[in-house]
Amino acid sequence: STFPCRTSQHLSLASVSRSASTLVLAEHEAGSIRAPSVSAVVAANVLCKDNSISVLLAGSGPSLQEAATHAASCHPSVSQVLVADSDQFTHPIAEPWAKLVHLVQQKGDYSHIIAPSGSFGKNILPRAAALLDVSPITDVIEMAESDLFVRPIYAGNALCTVRYTGANPCMLTIRSTSFPVPPTLADSKSKEAPISQVDLSTFGEDSIGNSRYIKQTSQDTERPDLGNARIVITGGRGLKSAENFKMIEKLAEKLGAAVGATRAAVDAGFVPNELQVGQTGKIVAPELYMAFGVSGAIQHLAGMRDSKVIVAVNKDADAPIFQVADYGLVGDLFEVIPELLEKVPER
Ligand code: FAD
Repeated sequence: STFPCRTSQHLSLASVSRSASTLVLAEHEAGSIRAPSVSAVVAANVLCKDNSISVLLAGSGPSLQEAATHAASCHPSVSQVLVADSDQFTHPIAEPWAKLVHLVQQKGDYSHIIAPSGSFGKNILPRAAALLDVSPITDVIEMAESDLFVRPIYAGNALCTVRYTGANPCMLTIRSTSFPVPPTLADSKSKEAPISQVDLSTFGEDSIGNSRYIKQTSQDTERPDLGNARIVITGGRGLKSAENFKMIEKLAEKLGAAVGATRAAVDAGFVPNELQVGQTGKIVAPELYMAFGVSGAIQHLAGMRDSKVIVAVNKDADAPIFQVADYGLVGDLFEVIPELLEKVPER
């Protein structure tokens, strides 16, 4: 499918695509670029192999400068890091960020602007696209050409190839699970790209509009982040209660895994919403995904079907989860999990 159809602009994009210059909107935390944003750089590198990736960071205080240093060496193709340092960016609120992207685009005239498709990118990119009067393409899983992208539709049951025919910039959110960061990249010390400050003199005092930052709450846990974990252990409604769900947490601790849940488990109050995997939850693609008491509804599969190895335990042999599982065990989770807890050695 194609949108929006403006042939003359398509021609101009085609000529630009030979010298694609890409801006990556990066999220940072505690002085580092978050892993999904590094995946966005990996995706950008598919578009422009000629080292012309700029990374845009915004925030305030010393951790911003630390994150800028990290961004400068996170990938050999990063050619510059742009830093917007202002109290208005202390929290990643869409209004000032979108205005910032607009400002940076006016100066940089990028052919592509890419953000990871988590809450950071989903919050900021559509608003910035509206200011720049272009249609964003979301959830890209493959960069076929500089104007041709693949994205899942119908909860991942079909793949849609989209040709972008609009004006510059072509704005994309990418699924970080489809652009994994090569382990060698994390180990290698790449060259450091230059860091420069964005001139905010024309930015205005209050760009936040009607939005106000109230607070951020997150689980205080030592478990790996669900979005990037190598192993995910998920529990469904079959667990029956929050108390029983603790078995899933214990198994996750033993395996150094993240905990996931179905929407039914979240709705029943077994675990908080942030653990939900699926179409309306997190998209994960770990090395190992273990599902206990999960039926395998398409909305759940949409969030985990790209996992490398899927193991399912369900007492119903006809449960749809077995259609995607590499290993399936028809059994009672209340027998299987205690046995696993006993047999899996302490880390
Ligand atoms: P159920 O479907 O009730 O399945 C429970 C399973 O546990 C059954 O297969 C049963 O056989 C098994 N079981 C029960 N007892 C045991 C036992 N003792 N031992 C072993 N197995 C046992 N769902 C998501 O997960 N993520 C989403 O992001 C999501 N988004 C949605 C968006 C929309 C618009 C809609 C309409 C739905 C969405 N859903 C989502 C809900 C989805 O359709 C399913 O309802 C949900 O995934 C079911 O969760 P479940 O597998 O835990 O529960």
